[in-house]
Amino acid sequence: MGLPAADFAEIINNIQAEIAAARARSANAAPRIHLLAVSKTRPAAEAAACWQAGQPLGLAALAENKVQELLEKKSKLPADIRWHFIGHLQTNKVKQVLGQAELIHSLDSWHLAEEINRRAETLQIVVKCLLEVNVAAESSKFGLRPDELWDFCKSARDLPGVRICGLMTVAPAVDNPEQARPVFAELRSLRDELRQRAEKVAYSHLDLQELSMGMSNDYKVAVEEGATMVRLGSLIFGARVYR
Ligand SMILES: *Cc1c(COP(=O)(O)O)cnc(C)c1O
Repeated sequence: MGLPAADFAEIINNIQAEIAAARARSANAAPRIHLLAVSKTRPAAEAAACWQAGQPLGLAALAENKVQELLEKKSKLPADIRWHFIGHLQTNKVKQVLGQAELIHSLDSWHLAEEINRRAETLQIVVKCLLEVNVAAESSKFGLRPDELWDFCKSARDLPGVRICGLMTVAPAVDNPEQARPVFAELRSLRDELRQRAEKVAYSHLDLQELSMGMSNDYKVAVEEGATMVRLGSLIFGARVYR
């Protein structure tokens, strides 16, 4: 079961080379791109092997989309592993996840932001979050509408426990990754626009640097369009089997 560390090293090396190549061919690419390995559904030992092999090769963190699974794996594995949370977060799980993940990619409602803030203030921490954006307005997806973002950012002044570090999106599932390009380009332009507006009014609670976009099928296009974080699962671990 699971891949030996040498295979993870080879896979991650190849991915880093692809990321570097995609970056080199586009003027819109970000100067630094963080590779995240999405270890959801994979056993803890496999996640650990991936981290061990990947971290020296620039793997930035492991990412999980379910609170319970994140906590279970974390409790079994070395404390130096960095974790991000990328799934839809229910308000009743906020308490459990705070302090456990360095970045929450999936802040998708004001109600959730208020709950994160409330818990963060109790713990006296500031929680780094990305705003999840439903760029293509798919009814099946979580995420804020593009036209809600600026009001959300402005109102977040009143939530000192929440730090908004950028935007995240899950592109529509398409056959040809080129079809996802407009979605990624749109997320970049939304981030740039928000950043300009925030600079004008000197909002210090906003730090709109990050663009979390790109998965196994479309990460090269996402890098070309300015991703600062790509979230790769099946490309690193193989196809997921849901049990
Ligand atoms: C599962 C998941 C990924 C990784 O998907 P792959 O296609 O396996 O790379 C990335 N982002 C989110 C939010 C996910 O849930």
